[in-house]
Amino acid sequence: MTAPALIPFMHLTPGADAGAIRAAIDRVIARGWFILGPELTAFETEFAQASGAAYAVGVGTGTDAIALALRALGIGPGDEVITAPLSAAYSALAIMMAGATPVFADIDINRLTLDPAQVDALVTPRTAAILPVHLYGQPADMTAIAAIARRHNLVIVEDASQAHLAKSEGRPVGTIGVAGAFSFYPTKNLGALGDAGGIVTDDAALADKLRRLRNGGQKDRYHHLEFGVNTRLDEMQAAILRERLALLPGWTDRRREIAARYRSALVGAPVIVPPEKDPGHVYHLFPVRSAHRDQVQAHLRHNGIETLIHYPVPIPRQPALDGIPTATCPVADRVCSEVFSLPLYPALTNDEVDRVADAVHRFSAADADGR
Ligand SMILES: *Cc1c(COP(=O)(O)O)cnc(C)c1O
Repeated sequence: MTAPALIPFMHLTPGADAGAIRAAIDRVIARGWFILGPELTAFETEFAQASGAAYAVGVGTGTDAIALALRALGIGPGDEVITAPLSAAYSALAIMMAGATPVFADIDINRLTLDPAQVDALVTPRTAAILPVHLYGQPADMTAIAAIARRHNLVIVEDASQAHLAKSEGRPVGTIGVAGAFSFYPTKNLGALGDAGGIVTDDAALADKLRRLRNGGQKDRYHHLEFGVNTRLDEMQAAILRERLALLPGWTDRRREIAARYRSALVGAPVIVPPEKDPGHVYHLFPVRSAHRDQVQAHLRHNGIETLIHYPVPIPRQPALDGIPTATCPVADRVCSEVFSLPLYPALTNDEVDRVADAVHRFSAADADGR
C-alpha cells in the first residue's frame, strides 16, 4: 500500500498570487524607495478601509503593534492590563514591552476567548486597559467586555492578530476598542513574506502619535519629540500585502467554507469541536479538543495529516513570566492540555477536508492505547 499524500498543516509558498507578488517586489526595487514610502501609505489607506477604520498605521510586527498602541495611550509602568491566558505569548509580552503588567483572566470554555465575568472580577484601581484576543479568528465577547470597560473607565486595545476582516456582532474587530492591533506574520490570514504588523483606530490624534512612535518619535526629520522606537512596515512587505489584501475577502470566504465542511463532517467524531459563537469568525485556525490529544495527533500523523497545538502552555505558566503573580486559570490549563488544530487554509481542497475528517472518525482511544 502506498502512503497517502501528505496534508501539510500550512502552505506558505505563494500560489495563485505568486505573479502579483513578484510584480510588486519589482515595482519597489525599480522605485528605489524602501522605507516609509508610497506603498506603505497606500496599504495603510486600503487596510483601514477594509477594516472599517478611519486610520491604519503600519509597524514592524504584531507584537510592536500591541506594545505601541498601549504606549501611545499612556499605559506603562504601574498599570495593569487584563488579557487572555490562551493566546500567542506575544500578546502578554507586548504588555510587558510597554512596561505594564499583564493580568490573566480565564477564558470561556466554549468561545475560548476572555470570560467577561473573570475580567470583571480582576479589575483593580491599577487596571488601565483590557486586551481581548480574537483567538483563532473568532471575536471575543466584545459586547460584554465593552460594558465592563465602560463601567470601570478602561480602554480596550484589541489583539486582532488572528482576525483580519472578522466581525463581532456585525462590527469590524479592531474598531470596537480605541485601537486594534494586527499581525501580518506569514502564517496569518493576511500574511507578508516576512514580519509586519499594523494598528487601526478611528482616533486621528492617536494615529499621529503612533506614526511618530514607530519612527523614533520624530515629527520632522531629525527632530525627535518623544521616546519612540524603530518599527516600520517596509515598502516591500507593504507592496506584497496590498496585492494580498485584494484577495483576502475571497480567501476568508474559502476559510469559512472549509470550516463549515469540517463542522458537518465531524459530527459524531471523537473530538470536541468548539462552537461558532459569531458568524463574523474568520477561521484563522480550526481547533478541536480531545482528552487523548497525543494519540489523536499520532493517529493523524500516521495517516499523513499534520496538526499543531495552539497553544500547549498557558501564557502565565511560561518561564518568561515568572515573577508575575497570577490567579489560576483552570479552563485555560485544561484547554492547553486538550486542544490541537486541524489544517485549514484557502488552498485546502474539499477532498482533503474529507480525508482529515474521515481519519478523525477512525480514531479510537482503545485502539490507540493497545498500539
Ligand atoms: C501572531 C500573534 C501575535 C504576534 O504577532 P507578530 O507579528 O508575530 O509579532 C500576537 N498576538 C496573537 C494573538 C498572534 O496570533
